[in-house]
Amino acid sequence: MADAPFLQDIDQNEAEKKQAMLAAIIDSSEDAIISKTLEGYITSWNQAATRLFGYTEEEAIGKHISLLIPKERLKEEDMIIDRIRNGHRVQHFQTIRVTKSGTYIPLSLTISPIKNSQGAIIGASKIARDISEQLRIHQEAQKLLQNTELLLSVGRIISEKLDLHSILQNVTDITTQLTGAEFGAFFYNMINDQGEAYMLYTLSGAPKEAFEKLGMPRNTAVFARTFSGEGILRSDDIRKDPRYGHSAPHYGMPEGHLPVVSYLAVPVTSPSGVIGGLFFGHSQPAMFKEEHERLISGIASQAAVAIENAKLYEEVKSLSTLKDDFIGVAGHELRTPITTIKGYLQLLEGQSTEGLTRDFIEKALRQVNKLNRLITDLLDVTKIQAGKLDYTITPCSIIDLVKECIETVWQIHTSHIIESRLPDKDVIVMADASKIEQVLINLLTNAIKYSPGANKVFLTVTTNSNYAIVSVRDLGIGIPQEHIQHIFHRYYRVKTTQHVVGGLGIGMYISKEIINRHNGEIWLESVENQGSTFFFSLPLAP
Ligand code: ADP
Repeated sequence: MADAPFLQDIDQNEAEKKQAMLAAIIDSSEDAIISKTLEGYITSWNQAATRLFGYTEEEAIGKHISLLIPKERLKEEDMIIDRIRNGHRVQHFQTIRVTKSGTYIPLSLTISPIKNSQGAIIGASKIARDISEQLRIHQEAQKLLQNTELLLSVGRIISEKLDLHSILQNVTDITTQLTGAEFGAFFYNMINDQGEAYMLYTLSGAPKEAFEKLGMPRNTAVFARTFSGEGILRSDDIRKDPRYGHSAPHYGMPEGHLPVVSYLAVPVTSPSGVIGGLFFGHSQPAMFKEEHERLISGIASQAAVAIENAKLYEEVKSLSTLKDDFIGVAGHELRTPITTIKGYLQLLEGQSTEGLTRDFIEKALRQVNKLNRLITDLLDVTKIQAGKLDYTITPCSIIDLVKECIETVWQIHTSHIIESRLPDKDVIVMADASKIEQVLINLLTNAIKYSPGANKVFLTVTTNSNYAIVSVRDLGIGIPQEHIQHIFHRYYRVKTTQHVVGGLGIGMYISKEIINRHNGEIWLESVENQGSTFFFSLPLAP
């Protein structure tokens, strides 16, 4: 019994030591640790809490916890106390609290109930961690991700589009977003048909009128720097730039001009010189950083390539239109004398009975018809290009059409027999008869042309529930697999066949156009050195 008080002393000592240790841990914690009563009055406050919120221990203890809660978030306290009263913890609750100086700080809170020795809940302990840095890193990562996506989209737009204006509008929009500019513009030099230089621009973040007062941007010393290719100009406050404000007539920004303070200008340069420039503005100072310079100059060089490509594409398009126009005019010029020759030959044919003469006249007429068809094809190509090939679609017998075409082709090409397999019953399709005739003659002529070693071609007509399907098969040279997908392209000819026989490479192109306009399809199967089968389908008349 004698040593009982001694043991008690030891227990007492241990408890005190433990208490002191706990207090030391709490005070040295990096996180703010606060306890409060269930009514919300602060009962303890560590050093980190002082560092975080700015109140000393003396100032904080006894005050209500709402001292730290922004007005608009006061309801959160009711929710927290409710959970604590019910014995639950609130974990990693992200919210905002306010410091003594009125600064809002993002925090992650973990709040646990405090129980007395009987287990009753008498208050709450709260650990608050400052997550500003974490949030900043998260936001930066988000921004980086967004920038990467924007950069990828620039790449995609630039490689996908050929229309100059929409490329530049997209580039302007995306770069304005990337720099965080309030407004961005792309000014670029163009040369018109008369060889005069003029300036076009796309804008982002501001209506076009906002820049209209600017006049010719190259006139001012600040702009000139970009257009003369001197390099990037970035200014925290352009109004303080020594070059600013010296140029007539405005000596600075004209009245009503967008308020540019931060300024970034990046020349867009191709090997042939400066094409234009990307310009960004912000009404606040020091908004553009080195990273923006780097981002934008990368995009500027991509944009330069895109502009050059778009210009080339425009040139090719206008040359192609010129060529189509020329073919159209040449075709009409050729047709007039041919029609006259054909008329005279037909007159002679009617009068001549003599064997050899008649034979020559017939041969000459056949050649004239061939020439006529070639000219029709050429003119059709130009009409297709201009969207002016007219169609008159009516119900007509595909069997009759096929028979007529076989007759026509056989008169010209006697080298091959055309074997046809036709349905017993008539088949009525919705078609422009003369156009389908053109397709059939093209297919049959090709089948004969490209099977010099054979003496037969085969024509079949079948039907399914909605379509008539015509196929023309030959036993000729066939088409190598890699060429099949191009056969219906304009002017496309398989290289090897060019030596075999002449042609313009437009028959299949016209045929496809015609069949497509009938809502049908045209396709082919072919094996090199064995032969080809061309198919087309036409909708049956209802
Ligand atoms: P072309 O005037 O050259 O015959 P087409 O447009 O009618 O022009 O045909 C395009 C090309 O498709 C031809 O140059 C030829 O290479 C190929 N072609 C078309 N039909 C056949 C066929 N029946 N057999 C082999 N090649 C063919």
